[in-house]
Amino acid sequence: NDAPNSRHAVDVKRMLHPYTDARAHEKAGPLIITDGSGVEVFDNQGKSYIEAMAGLWSVAVGFGEKRLVDAATRQMSSLPYYHTFSHKSNEPAIDLADRLVAMTGRKMEKVFFTNSGSEANDTVVKLLWYRNNALGQPERKKIISRKRGYHGITIAAGSMTGIPMNHGGFDLPLPGFHHLTCPHFYREGFEGETEAEFTERLAQELEELIEREGSETIAGFIGEPLMSAGGVVPPPAGYWRRVQEICRKHEIVVIADEVITGFGRLGTRFGSDYYDIEPDIMVMSKQLTSSYQPLAAIVMTDDIYQPVADQSSSIGAFGHGFTASGHPVATAVALENLDIIEERDLIGNAARLAPMLQAKLREFSDHALVGEVRGEGFIAAVELVANKTSRSPFDPVGVVGRELAAHAHAAGLIIRAIGDTIAFCPPLIATEEDVTKIITRFGLALDATTRTLP
Ligand code: PMP
Repeated sequence: NDAPNSRHAVDVKRMLHPYTDARAHEKAGPLIITDGSGVEVFDNQGKSYIEAMAGLWSVAVGFGEKRLVDAATRQMSSLPYYHTFSHKSNEPAIDLADRLVAMTGRKMEKVFFTNSGSEANDTVVKLLWYRNNALGQPERKKIISRKRGYHGITIAAGSMTGIPMNHGGFDLPLPGFHHLTCPHFYREGFEGETEAEFTERLAQELEELIEREGSETIAGFIGEPLMSAGGVVPPPAGYWRRVQEICRKHEIVVIADEVITGFGRLGTRFGSDYYDIEPDIMVMSKQLTSSYQPLAAIVMTDDIYQPVADQSSSIGAFGHGFTASGHPVATAVALENLDIIEERDLIGNAARLAPMLQAKLREFSDHALVGEVRGEGFIAAVELVANKTSRSPFDPVGVVGRELAAHAHAAGLIIRAIGDTIAFCPPLIATEEDVTKIITRFGLALDATTRTLP
């Protein structure tokens, strides 16, 4: 049966796979996933894998959820598409906006829908630029984010992202986008520095940047409550309290990028709940629809919204929107997905199983290859190092991580290698048994990787 090979051949000819060594990929071909059920996915040869990354940090309710299929089908049959331009709307979009505002439990007022997290973050930048023009503060345009933060890949979102791979060759970041030190104590803490001193040093760095640039030139500070795609980095204690104090003092808008942390990843509704953040803007996607449909939402306070809505300035209506903003099928799927999360108490499930996931992974801390095990709630990472004592990374970075990911695949486990950091982000429906399987299979892959090293 040569079917898998011919599938590979077709794919290799036609598709450019992002985040892939294209030349290596031409030889090996992709892993072709054809089906999924619960926490498992199946490839085109029938092999099953536990999807311990929930796809790309997304599939909260698991694969093959019939209720989402039915919700999409119902909406497709009644109103498959309508737009939200020029005083038009559709019911699922309206209902979802209400629901999201209510879910935040905060002083949020308005919602703007996009199709992806990147578009949402680009929109946030344009929203702030537009707002500040409307307020007669055209100089207030700069954006602060962090190294290793991930906010997407479009021009402004990519500029906020603090990962070299997303800048190299793209002439990014744009001027006016500033990146602070990643709040990763293990990597960025100085010799002999306490975690509290580290937090304070990062706070001072923020103060100094604002001082240097002039607070009147800075529009916003964006951060993931728990940095995720850059290697799963929980902030040090007190970090968000200090960042907020400083931003408030200088009237800098705080944006919580909840694209991964939203809807239960930390065992709370939002990462902002977990870390006690009071953002002015929250950006949501991924678990919003369990990625059964592409959708993202920007949820904002009245203070952000009012100047944008006020047409007394000379700049005209907010001329920004997408053909599929508030798409009825995507928003209907989101509503059903949120029902499932609530009815099955999936956020509670993540909160209950989080200590087990975190503790079991920390049992690998003594392993010769493991530099740090970290995470909060239902998201975690194991960072592999060449030398445990000096913490020196492998050279080149990423080869050992890829090797481990391949061994994990062989053992029926999909995890994500971010360089040599292995990320875990199971679907929120995972059971104790699933977590045990994830740990066992990861252990096998780690041992297999160890055996291949000189
Ligand atoms: N923000 C965060 C925190 C993300 O993790 C991601 C995607 N991994 C994005 C934004 C961008 O979302 P998208 O890939 O849908 O453009």
